Amino acid sequence: MSSRKPSAKAKRVQQFKSQLGNMDDVFAAEQRRGKRVSAKKEAVRREKACESKNRYSTQWEAQEAIATCEAYGTTGLKTYRCPYCNGWHLTSHPWDEG
Ligand SMILES: [Zn+2]
Repeated sequence: MSSRKPSAKAKRVQQFKSQLGNMDDVFAAEQRRGKRVSAKKEAVRREKACESKNRYSTQWEAQEAIATCEAYGTTGLKTYRCPYCNGWHLTSHPWDEG
């Protein structure tokens, strides 16, 4: 049986080791992907909470904008201080605050 030759066994051991190596690579890739996802989540949150919105340099300006919106029929807006740009934005979702 050719499979009983030492060289064949050594080949299997080498194959097994290379499989372990591949698993390490997979694990490392998963870790890298995890980091990328959280960075992307953060970018999406920033986009939603800051970059996609009008920015007001003072709360007073933001309140003025709310008054204008209410004049056009949009109610329920609130102001919040933006942690990203340090300006003020409007939100209709209370959970955006902070
Ligand atoms: Zn902002």
